[in-house]
Amino acid sequence: MSERLYFNDMYGRKFNGRIESKDGNKIFLDKTLFYPSSGGQPNDTGIIKSKDRLYNVIDVYKEGEDIVHVLDNADGLEINDLIHGEINWDRRYIHMRYHTAVHIIDGVVDNDYNGQGLLTGGQIYNDRARVDFSFDAIDKELIGKIIESANKIVERGLNVFQREITGDEALKIPGLARTEPGRELIRKLDQVRIIEIDNFDFQADGGTHVANTREVGKIVMQKIENKGKGHKRLTFTID
Ligand SMILES: [Zn+2]
Repeated sequence: MSERLYFNDMYGRKFNGRIESKDGNKIFLDKTLFYPSSGGQPNDTGIIKSKDRLYNVIDVYKEGEDIVHVLDNADGLEINDLIHGEINWDRRYIHMRYHTAVHIIDGVVDNDYNGQGLLTGGQIYNDRARVDFSFDAIDKELIGKIIESANKIVERGLNVFQREITGDEALKIPGLARTEPGRELIRKLDQVRIIEIDNFDFQADGGTHVANTREVGKIVMQKIENKGKGHKRLTFTID
C-alpha cells in the first residue's frame, strides 16, 4: 500500500520513492504525492524520473488500497528502482481551490438552510465544479444567496486544516457525516480524517484543499438544473 504523502503535505509538489511493483505500463510506489481520482476530485498528472529517463504519469486511480500510476510507457523501469516524482501543480492547485469551494458551499447550506436541503454530492473539473442538493425547490435567488454567503467566507480568509479522530469520535459529532452512506463508511474506519474550516465547517474527507479560504477566489454561479424531485444541481466557476 502506498503511503499517501498528499494527505499530510497538500502543497507538496516533488517526492522521491521506490517502485514496489509493475504491471505493463502501470507502476505501484511505496509512497506518492499523486492524488488518485476519488471523492469527486480528479487525479493528478505529472512526471516520474528514473535512471535518467523521463516518464509521463497520465492517469492515477485507486485499486483497493493500492494507488495505480499509469505511465505513457514504463520501458526500462523495474521493481525497487528509485524514482523522483513531480506533480502538475497548476492542475492540482485548481482542484484544491474547487474542492475547498465545495466545502464552503456545503457549510453554508448546512449552517443556514438546515432542514430544507443538503449537499448530496459533487464533481470537480479543471474549469468548473458541480454540486447536487436535496432541496425540493431551488431558484436563482436562493442559489444567489448561498453563493453570496460562500463568498463572504472566502473573503474572511479562514484557515483550513486537517486532523485525525477515531471512527467512534466521528460518529458522535452531529452533522459530520450527513448522509447514511457517509456514516456507513465511517463505521468501517479506525481513523477518520477531518477537514475543518476554522469555526465554520468540518467534514470527513479524503481530498486535498487549500490552507486558507481566500485562496479559493470568487465563486460564480453558472447554471442551475432541475434533476427531479429533491435533486437540484449547481454548476459554478471560480475567478
Ligand atoms: Zn474535501
